[in-house]
Amino acid sequence: MTSSLLTDANRRLERALKHVHISEDASERLKFPKASLKVSIPVRMDDGSLRVFEGYRVRYDDTRGPTKGGIRFHPNVTMDEVQSLAFWMTFKCAAVNLPFGGAKGGITLNPKELSKFELERLSRGYVDAIADFIGPDIDIPAPDVYTNPMIMGWMMDQYSIIRRQLSPAVMTGKPVGMGGSQGRDRATGTGAFYVLAAMMAKFDRNPATTTVAVQGFGNAGSVVARLLFEAGYQVVAVSDSHGGLYCDRGLDIPSLQQFKASTRSLQAVYCEGTVCNLVDGHDTITNDELLTLDVDILIPAALENQITAENASQIQAEYIFEVANGPITSAGDRILEDRGIYVFPDILVNAGGVTVSYYEWVQNRSGLYWSEAEVSDRLKNKLVAEAEDIWRISQNLAIPLRTAAYVHALERLEAAHSARGTRDYYVS
Ligand code: GLU
Repeated sequence: MTSSLLTDANRRLERALKHVHISEDASERLKFPKASLKVSIPVRMDDGSLRVFEGYRVRYDDTRGPTKGGIRFHPNVTMDEVQSLAFWMTFKCAAVNLPFGGAKGGITLNPKELSKFELERLSRGYVDAIADFIGPDIDIPAPDVYTNPMIMGWMMDQYSIIRRQLSPAVMTGKPVGMGGSQGRDRATGTGAFYVLAAMMAKFDRNPATTTVAVQGFGNAGSVVARLLFEAGYQVVAVSDSHGGLYCDRGLDIPSLQQFKASTRSLQAVYCEGTVCNLVDGHDTITNDELLTLDVDILIPAALENQITAENASQIQAEYIFEVANGPITSAGDRILEDRGIYVFPDILVNAGGVTVSYYEWVQNRSGLYWSEAEVSDRLKNKLVAEAEDIWRISQNLAIPLRTAAYVHALERLEAAHSARGTRDYYVS
């Protein structure tokens, strides 16, 4: 397989390199992942048979600190995808100034087909296979698509067994009862909301007359939809992997969350307490239809490659906030840019998750735990400040917001690369 996703990710880097001075050594090194590990994980299944799963962990660049990034459980996981996601993590951590490099991991499977016991054995087996590749000062995994605090708890426990010492700082996104941080589970959606609210303030828009469509109703999408609803925005469409719902009067997001939590799928409902009734006046739509709805704000919060050269010309939203990683291809980007659509990039908008992961790591290492209010204050201040810087770079250099975010990240990456003694550091 050609490394198409990574090649596409690298196009963003090449574009940004035109607007920032960075040594040739650093730019050359940033095109390649530092280390890529592929492992086979044998798992005893509940029926007694043995199944072998393929897993990956990629450390892309560790010049700014230990590498950081989630672990994804999904049938489409490939080395190419994991390398691209590790590339994005490198730029994400630099864009919001976390002292980390970028990494990512994944196992190719449909986690919904495994029992909890099988999932636990798989998670522990994965850590057995990658234990020498990770560590609190080397590489720190976290949740990503279809992984959660329970899985992070098993993985931290397994790593601690291997090392024969409790090592909470090796994983983030753990349950709060075993070293997790307050606010980590909601951090991606909360951070996205802070960025969105700060950026929309520049356009002088009234939330009550601003319509929003959210693709993906998982950990990130449902939280951002809920916060937008509470802030008075008209969230008119949401979807999950089964399909979506549309209502031009705006959806009742808390009821949908409650219904989804109890039935695991989305339907138009009205809930009071624990009693939910199906209600009329909603249309079911597909995920593709959701993307091209006539709304003001579009929030892709599912998987990568959703807006491409094929559908970018049909997008009607004026603003896109990327809560998923890589939802727009570089070809899709160019079309949106020509059409004057503002795209607020993933490496800023969804950085709330890894930011609170950083806070969790700091708390684990210091042994001092923070309140939820302290976590959310720090998160808000950091993301809004970085968003303002990226906005300014975009305005000053007249470049798209994504390129501005990469420029911002590259300045920090360059400082770290050159301080390690690349050629330019000595000659200039
Ligand atoms: N998986 C999340 C991301 O893509 C969080 C990573 C982390 O917390 O390390 O940003």
